[in-house]
Amino acid sequence: VDFLKVLEDNGLTRKDRRLEILFRKLDQLSTESFDFPTFLSIIQTVAPLIERMLRGALALPDFANLSAELIRIYRDVELNEEGQQATYIPPLAEVNPDQCGLALVTTDGQLLELGDSEVDFSIQSACKPFNYCFALDELGAEKVHRHIGMEPSGQPFNARVLMSDGTGRPHNPMINAGAIMTAALIQTDQPLHRRLEHVRNTWGKLTGGSIPRFNAWMAQEESRTGDNNRALGYMMKSAGVMPHGEDAVDHELRDALELYFSVCSLEVTARELATAAATLANNGICRVTQERGVDERTVRNCLTLMQMCGMYDASGQFSVRICLTAKSGVGGAVFLIVPRLMGVCVWSPRLDRIGNSVRGVDFATRLADAYRLHLYDGLASRSARIDPRMPAARWRAEQTSLALRAASLGDVRTLRCMLDEQANL
Ligand code: GLN
Repeated sequence: VDFLKVLEDNGLTRKDRRLEILFRKLDQLSTESFDFPTFLSIIQTVAPLIERMLRGALALPDFANLSAELIRIYRDVELNEEGQQATYIPPLAEVNPDQCGLALVTTDGQLLELGDSEVDFSIQSACKPFNYCFALDELGAEKVHRHIGMEPSGQPFNARVLMSDGTGRPHNPMINAGAIMTAALIQTDQPLHRRLEHVRNTWGKLTGGSIPRFNAWMAQEESRTGDNNRALGYMMKSAGVMPHGEDAVDHELRDALELYFSVCSLEVTARELATAAATLANNGICRVTQERGVDERTVRNCLTLMQMCGMYDASGQFSVRICLTAKSGVGGAVFLIVPRLMGVCVWSPRLDRIGNSVRGVDFATRLADAYRLHLYDGLASRSARIDPRMPAARWRAEQTSLALRAASLGDVRTLRCMLDEQANL
């Protein structure tokens, strides 16, 4: 066996910090082949991972086939030139809209990268679920939700509406008002620059050490054009729902807005965002460091609200069609979380009317068409879609034996169902 090829076919790459020593030892080998004791010494630091790989038990056991299919999907998606990038500020308007990056990271750390996956982009609203996590970890859900609701707003992300339940809270943390409130809750006893540092460093726990870059020009432009967000802030202040109530000291709201603008102006790559997403998919534990980035209950709350509100006012149709936990940002990022399986990020600047990346949504749609990932796909028991959690050979064997068994029993109904679901009889 070609060990390097096996690693590659399983998405275990040189970029994986866990594998540094393994690759160093492989590079130092003077021969092309090695015996079993040498093999054991090479894999020593990551033996359980390599063992799982060789047993075909990684999160995506059929990584090579899946990659080939995703490359095909990516090529199709790249041809899609619909939509228009955000133009409300120069640093977004000046981005080359043709760029497209994709990264997929599994809960085992398998990595697939395509296109511009290493290009920095503006995180924008894709920061919202993470800020929400950081606030939950700091204060707990009870305190956070005294100030933020848990309902879809059914309105554009920047709509000037608050909940009509008498509390005046923003609907949820995934839209602007809620994200401004989230910012108002994070590390309030610290000066503003420390609060931003805290957010960036906490990101490091989710990405295995990569700290998002801060684009000061972007933040300045966000602030310059941020009056709608200020209006949202003042609405919340006058509703008395800010942490310090109606008589919130003036700088409380000002700082919350500045922190919100700053965090929207962080920059990450598709790989970093997919890695952070994979940490959430992995219940809050970062696969690279094996350390907990966020609390388990926090992840649960966050994924639920992303599911309901992550794709702005297209969240409902996104759920019915695709039903993947997702969040988008006007910088062109869409990231997806498949619990216990993977995080995916597609970044491409052109947006649809609602503000979601056209190629991001296109990719998610094709992904859900090809694979059994829709949350409720499992209910259609014999769906023709491939379950990526299963090796393709096993999946095909199951389909074949099901067909043979149904035929041998004269079970025409099952065969008809299989036909309906486009099984290849
Ligand atoms: N900075 C943007 C704003 O506040 C972020 C919005 C977004 O990505 N949807 O309007």
